[in-house]
Amino acid sequence: MTYDVVVVGGGTAGGPLAARLSEDPDRTILLLEAGPVPADDAVPAEVRDGTTLRAAVPGHPLTWSYPALLAPSRPYTVVRGRMMGGSGAINGGAFVRARPEDADGWARRGNDEWSYGRVLPVWRELESDLDHGATDVHGGSGPMPVLRAPQQSPAAEAFHAAAVDLGFGEEPDKNAPGAPGVGPLPRTVVAGIRRNAAMQYLASARHRPNVAVRGDTRALRVRVECGRTTGVEVETAGRGEFVEAREVVLACGAIGSPHLLLLSGIGPAEKLTALGVPVVADLPGVGRDFTDHPQLVVEWRGRPPGAVGRPETFVTVLDFASPGGPAQGDLEILLCEQPIRDLLTGVPGGTGGGALLVSLQGPESRGRISLRSADPYVPPRIEYRYLSEPVDRVRLRHGLRTAVALLRSRAFAGVVDGLVDPGAAAVGDADLDRWMDAQLGTAIHLCGSARMGPADDTGAVVDQYGRVRGVSGLRVADTSILPTVPSRGPGATAVLIGELIARFMRRGD
Ligand SMILES: Cc1cc2nc3c(=O)[nH]c(=O)nc-3n(C[C@H](O)[C@H](O)[C@H](O)COP(=O)(O)OP(=O)(O)OC[C@H]3O[C@@H](n4cnc5c(N)ncnc54)[C@H](O)[C@@H]3O)c2cc1C
Repeated sequence: MTYDVVVVGGGTAGGPLAARLSEDPDRTILLLEAGPVPADDAVPAEVRDGTTLRAAVPGHPLTWSYPALLAPSRPYTVVRGRMMGGSGAINGGAFVRARPEDADGWARRGNDEWSYGRVLPVWRELESDLDHGATDVHGGSGPMPVLRAPQQSPAAEAFHAAAVDLGFGEEPDKNAPGAPGVGPLPRTVVAGIRRNAAMQYLASARHRPNVAVRGDTRALRVRVECGRTTGVEVETAGRGEFVEAREVVLACGAIGSPHLLLLSGIGPAEKLTALGVPVVADLPGVGRDFTDHPQLVVEWRGRPPGAVGRPETFVTVLDFASPGGPAQGDLEILLCEQPIRDLLTGVPGGTGGGALLVSLQGPESRGRISLRSADPYVPPRIEYRYLSEPVDRVRLRHGLRTAVALLRSRAFAGVVDGLVDPGAAAVGDADLDRWMDAQLGTAIHLCGSARMGPADDTGAVVDQYGRVRGVSGLRVADTSILPTVPSRGPGATAVLIGELIARFMRRGD
């Protein structure tokens, strides 16, 4: 059969998108997902468990594990979720909206549908804020449960007090407009269980007669004939197949979607030709200029040694601006109430302590994704080029020194028994830079690898409705399309993208 819409990728944006499209009974939808689609009661324990990141380790069968370069001499393996739920099935569960300044910035770049004023009603509709209920800013009956864990623990209380002592303001509601500061972290982890957007939205939608969901089915290429999309070439258990569609929406995430565009001949013509890929549309912006949050981990020993953190893991966070940085804050310090090793293994190591995750939330450096081969099973080349803009290094140094100052403050004296990392290295710029270069990591918040923009933006790949330039019947709907990474985690914004693109499609844009 020919589907009206094939959505490729059952992740944080794709799941909500397919569910919302299926509300129109006259439209047939197929949702394709490369990974498994477990029944609600068969979700693996490490995916359900929102108190650890046990599935988010390279090589785990529910991940894509991509080789990447964070900097020229910093190889790294970047994981993404590979099952119904996508990265939202394995992530940290933080659910913080993009800031009004982010949305208005995207609108100023020629995407007026994305301004804060226009998207606020959608933010409200997609959530059930279990702390605030329905208000002017919050929703009380949407699919995504949002709540904040109790802030009472020695480490959380010390963190809050230390931040206030250092002069930072308080930010009691991180999903409302207001100055950045220290405050509780909104999450979609309920009673220790991670709730991913695809499963939340599809719970009621997937049984509709106009929706089909296929797991373990990997898209290899989009087929385009005479400028019009005709469907998707897929593989299931080693068997190839062509799925016909009137419209295809790529929601494979900010690595998967540009990769699929390039494999389909949509990208920089010269480079595609060199690899033997027939050119469908010459779009030099595919894979170019992506942004992500560089991250460094400052670990401390607990007092008394051996004290084990509590299971909520992430409860409180500080957002603030670097000197000269943007008012909405370009630095974040997230408290983790257990050692990182314990977080990733789910096994308390008995060493106690915890970590501060320091991220640069407004990076100037731009990365790129490019094709290595026309073979869809060969992963793309991913170069983050972190810290390639010197200002990013200066700002990250400031973030690290602030984290060390928090841990060395009087408020933390009863909790911290010395730093494991960076320890003594945090003194001079040169020492700190060496440590940074060796330890550089990523928050895995990649965005902007197929960005939206108006016709005169030569690097734009899609318009603000997600429509791919020069190819009819093809859209992208995931964090690839954001012009820049939001200054908070992008998980909540990915759900917004699914909601918005579904609305645009339903109203005929
Ligand atoms: C370990 C980790 C922790 C994170 N923590 C947080 C956090 O706490 N808060 C936050 O805001 N953000 C967090 N993020 C980022 C956030 O989860 C992502 O930005 C967001 O989920 C991206 O949504 P998406 O829809 O763009 O892509 P995804 O949710 O990754 O969905 C893409 C889907 O497409 C499927 N797919 C890919 N290629 C194909 C193909 N060829 N054929 C078929 N299907 C395909 C994938 O299997 C996947 O299911 C984290 C990410 C990771 C990896």
